[in-house]
Amino acid sequence: MLEKIENIKSEANLESGLIKDEKTLEEFRLKYLSRNGLLNTLFEEFKSVDRESKGKVGKSLNELKISLQKIYDEQKEKTVSGKSPDNESPDITLPGVKFNKGTKHLISQAIDEITEIFQRIGFQVYEGFEIEDEYHNFDALNTPDYHPSRDMQDTFYLHSEGKDKNYLLRTHTSPAQIRVMEKTKPPVRVIVPGKVYRNEAVSSRSLAFFHQIEGLYVDRKVSFSDLKGTLDYFAKEFFGENLKTRLRPSFFPFTEPSAEMDVECYLCSAKGCRICKYTGWLEIGGCGMVNPDVFKMVGYDPDEYTGFAFGMGIERTLMPKYGIPDIRLFYENDIRFLKQF
Ligand SMILES: [Zn+2]
Repeated sequence: MLEKIENIKSEANLESGLIKDEKTLEEFRLKYLSRNGLLNTLFEEFKSVDRESKGKVGKSLNELKISLQKIYDEQKEKTVSGKSPDNESPDITLPGVKFNKGTKHLISQAIDEITEIFQRIGFQVYEGFEIEDEYHNFDALNTPDYHPSRDMQDTFYLHSEGKDKNYLLRTHTSPAQIRVMEKTKPPVRVIVPGKVYRNEAVSSRSLAFFHQIEGLYVDRKVSFSDLKGTLDYFAKEFFGENLKTRLRPSFFPFTEPSAEMDVECYLCSAKGCRICKYTGWLEIGGCGMVNPDVFKMVGYDPDEYTGFAFGMGIERTLMPKYGIPDIRLFYENDIRFLKQF
């Protein structure tokens, strides 16, 4: 019996060197340590060992049990930790983890592109304030007290500090024109991009805020044909080389005369389509010669200086350009929408 125990011990020691993975480890366990394994068979045989030898055989059998368990535990440790990346060189042929690259929002891209077009002809960028006072948003722009746009239904008022100090969220970028003219002497040539706010019901065509871009040029002898030439240059740079532009008479309190500007529909090459309502023209914004009353408010002499101003909505301009059916898509941050631009 003692000899048998010694044989199994040396056999197990030899076989421990063959354990390479979970499969061979399990084979080792089944052969020696399982219920029907060699160790249990020996314990069964031990029951019939005669009394004098029991002490010696029992000791030897216990040593075997300990050494088999030790081999098993050590090999198990090695096989399991062998699977950890620390013990393995990385497989450089595996495909990498893909990261989504962030990009500029479509609105920011458009503002960048438009300001760059105007910067090429000498316009500077001014941003203005989103919180304005009533004076800069309305009064200084020749918008009288009774004008409907001053109504609470259209304008978000913030708080009031007495009769002449009502604060509001600017309803257009035009108060920035006043702030620039208050601080600088002509010539003035600025472009003002930014957010504006209107108290409007949310729909596919309108939101409580959107983006505008505004331009102002004041100098001696600035004429209506300068306005037309500037807008024509912009439309060709932004919408397409061969597109015609046109001006239609309109009204704004802060310009006189005023006009709406249209560009030929670039979607149907002016043939007429659903987007341009079969007119062949798309409206891009309002413009006009600065009203002399506005010059008086900022201390410019209307007999010495003339100027023009124009403004357009960014979202309204981009919607037909990219076939975007709903203005809300710009702000829902749906990655499927955003990554197209
Ligand atoms: Zn069209």
